[in-house]
Amino acid sequence: MLNSGSSSVKFALVHPGSGERTLSGEAEKVGTPEAVLHVPGDSGVPVTEQLTDGSYQAVISRILGHVHESGSGPGLVGAGHRVVHGGERFTASVLVDDKVIDAIRSFIPLAPLHNPANLAGIEAVRAARPDLPQVAVFDTAFHQSLPPRAFRYAVPEEWYTRYGVRRYGFHGTSHRFVSQRAAALLGRPLGELRLVTAHLGNGCSLAAVRDGVSVDTTMGLTTLEGLVMGTRSGDVDPGMFGYLADRAGLSVGQLTDVLNTASGLAGLSGVSNDMRTVEAAAAAGNERAWLALEVFVHRLAKAIAGMVVGLGGLDALVFTAGIGEHSAEIRGRVLASLGFLGLAEDTEANARHGRDTGGRISPDGPVLALVVPTDEELMIARDSARLIAGG
Ligand code: ADP
Repeated sequence: MLNSGSSSVKFALVHPGSGERTLSGEAEKVGTPEAVLHVPGDSGVPVTEQLTDGSYQAVISRILGHVHESGSGPGLVGAGHRVVHGGERFTASVLVDDKVIDAIRSFIPLAPLHNPANLAGIEAVRAARPDLPQVAVFDTAFHQSLPPRAFRYAVPEEWYTRYGVRRYGFHGTSHRFVSQRAAALLGRPLGELRLVTAHLGNGCSLAAVRDGVSVDTTMGLTTLEGLVMGTRSGDVDPGMFGYLADRAGLSVGQLTDVLNTASGLAGLSGVSNDMRTVEAAAAAGNERAWLALEVFVHRLAKAIAGMVVGLGGLDALVFTAGIGEHSAEIRGRVLASLGFLGLAEDTEANARHGRDTGGRISPDGPVLALVVPTDEELMIARDSARLIAGG
């Protein structure tokens, strides 16, 4: 499994059946002369290697070298890549061929930071191991099932037909994984469930999942839409652009940058983009940190209720990713705001993150709340193994 970002490459050797990771690591400052690779050493303690050539090609050759040295080379059946944007073309994971590469390239304008790096990873594996099957797993694919009423913006038709302006949604691999896992934990077929899945990490998004299919989501054309996040604003009034252009003399590019990198929890609290730090500051009496939590929770609860419209009812709310899996406070406050949907908190189960209750953090009843740890790497490995075996 490879996740090639704009300056990093994360990798893990994953057994798709057991989920076991026999090797994992991360390269940083890729594409620069200071590139380094962190890999587990002999005693399990991570060691850092300086790479004289920091190109994607050199970094990936070195990663494949480690796979070989670990003795796992013969067991390697393929490489699965996280790819951020699959446009309207990819509704599921695919085996990589020339046409897939061209299509991923054609979506670069929609994901200018991510798709070029994802492609560089695919091309580097191809150059090093032309025989090795590769699979692309798209963040957007799971949401291609959204109906037009959920994915279209009320803007001129031509913006959609000419420029692809529509809601795509992201974090699809995580929403898909936790919805499957939630069904297993509930002991009910996914095809009968109405779920809202809440991926709350540095980036945050919700999905409305009916019968295993995404019918609505909070992220849109870009990853800026929707919930309040670590450094991202989520929804704002688009009229803000013209207003601030006049008042503050900022360009569209500058405003977009501030909304992506200096807003959200960081902008509101002035303390941190990290939920742990914001929670600690709020508990110590920092009023701005407290307000950041209030806005985060209010907007999250409001958006969860909104997702229920697409489902026509709710069987379970699923929390996942860093905040969703670890912050009993945020989960408890969200559940307290959503009593009218039949949700409630089981304080003890929530404090223990649902560990002794099969994920459940609400009292037993018709509408449940669950904590389900996400595992995008395993989902990528499973999709890859399935496609490679079938193809
Ligand atoms: P990414 O989206 O980069 O994968 P994560 O899923 O790891 O990130 O989520 C990171 C977020 O999770 C951060 O805001 C971090 O503060 C938060 N988080 C992690 N552990 C806790 C915790 N114990 N309590 C509150 N928030 C937590």
